Amino acid sequence: MNFEFYNPTRLIFGAGNLKRLGKEVKRIGRRALLVTGGGSVKRNGIFDRAVASLEREGITWVECAGIEPNPRITSVARGAQLVRDEKCEVVIALGGGSTMDASKVIGAAALYDGEPWDLIGHGQQDWVIPTETLPVVTVPTLAATGSEMNCGAVISNDETKIKSFVQTEALYPAVALVDPELTLTVPKDQTAYGICDIIVHVTEAYFNGIDDTPVQDRFAEGVILNTIDYGKRALADGNDLEARTHLQWASILALNGFMAAGMNPAGFPVHMIEHAISAHHDITHGAGLAIVNPAWMRFAAKVRPAKFVQFGERIFNLKPKGSDDMDCALAGIDAYEAFLKSIGCPTRLSALGIGDELFTRYAEDSALVLRDEDGNLLGRPTMSKQDIVEVLRSAL
Ligand code: NAP
Ligand code: FE
Repeated sequence: MNFEFYNPTRLIFGAGNLKRLGKEVKRIGRRALLVTGGGSVKRNGIFDRAVASLEREGITWVECAGIEPNPRITSVARGAQLVRDEKCEVVIALGGGSTMDASKVIGAAALYDGEPWDLIGHGQQDWVIPTETLPVVTVPTLAATGSEMNCGAVISNDETKIKSFVQTEALYPAVALVDPELTLTVPKDQTAYGICDIIVHVTEAYFNGIDDTPVQDRFAEGVILNTIDYGKRALADGNDLEARTHLQWASILALNGFMAAGMNPAGFPVHMIEHAISAHHDITHGAGLAIVNPAWMRFAAKVRPAKFVQFGERIFNLKPKGSDDMDCALAGIDAYEAFLKSIGCPTRLSALGIGDELFTRYAEDSALVLRDEDGNLLGRPTMSKQDIVEVLRSAL
């Protein structure tokens, strides 16, 4: 496919970079909103080091703490109000994907007079897609979402039980200051969920893209293979900086737009289904994906087997009898699911105590935004509500 690639985020990548924070922020503004999560950056000293770097350069700052995993629109509103009250010129996200996503929408909401929820797509007729934002500097502390260098943000609404997204050019961070040392303290479970998220970002493009994308296929497979290899190393030894570094780079490549170039993915169905579940049960994103992705793959492989055969062959060294070898396609998915289990991810809804009570609601909510005219969830193949319920049933 013809394509256009645009990513204006300046990426500064490498161990030891945190001390540059003040200098980088100073190029953008003198007064910062410093956005943080539930306190991990306080406990592990990252916060103090970030603040010291800012203060060395004369940057004044005010903190917006307490961004929750699966960040809430109420926290975004609180942050936007702080920006206005304190006249901040730049937003710094110091944390995981939740903190980074919230920061992006805080930057946009601060310049918008209406309700912040208007900015998040949730099936409304008059979606106000942001066209301007305060500059955002992302400093990720977790390798997972790739949010540091992309223009997407996922926000939850606790009142309506909708978790949905906005993805638009204005939301590219000005700078992604990436220091893999900051991820050394990520606990095993979050490391595993991050590995899962990275792989699913790749597979969403790989399996929902067009056929005949040989360069992108090898690129995608390279990112998956390295995520598996270095992911295992990071799990065996959390202080393995080399493994953490490769994992962080993989997480960025998986979702900064480059992976999908020319693949033209028709949708992001596994994410859409996971968000619908997460909105009700507040589960960790990567854990939800570990449950939905293998189930979705078994569904999609029936319709488009060739790419799944290739996945089994190139990721798990299976020996297919031909490009329609369904046994090989399914064996590849089984091997992938076994890998997820081996790193401690749940692969069934029941493991998280989730039953089938809300399946029709999840099916409805999955297709609120990325839908065709008939309301089917976009992807290759598209999914009817019934298809989604059946995939969920197979994941019980
Ligand atoms: P997260 O929700 O940001 O963080 C998960 C947990 O890890 C939190 O409890 C956090 O603690 C902890 N943590 C983070 N860094 C740590 C560190 N260095 N040491 C110890 N603990 C640490 O996780 P995430 O997976 O990065 O983000 C998930 C969110 O991003 C979901 O809402 C998901 O839907 C969204 N997402 C966005 C994109 C995108 O492109 N924008 C893509 C995929 C998913 P504290 O809160 O205490 O810091
Ligand atoms: Fe994700």
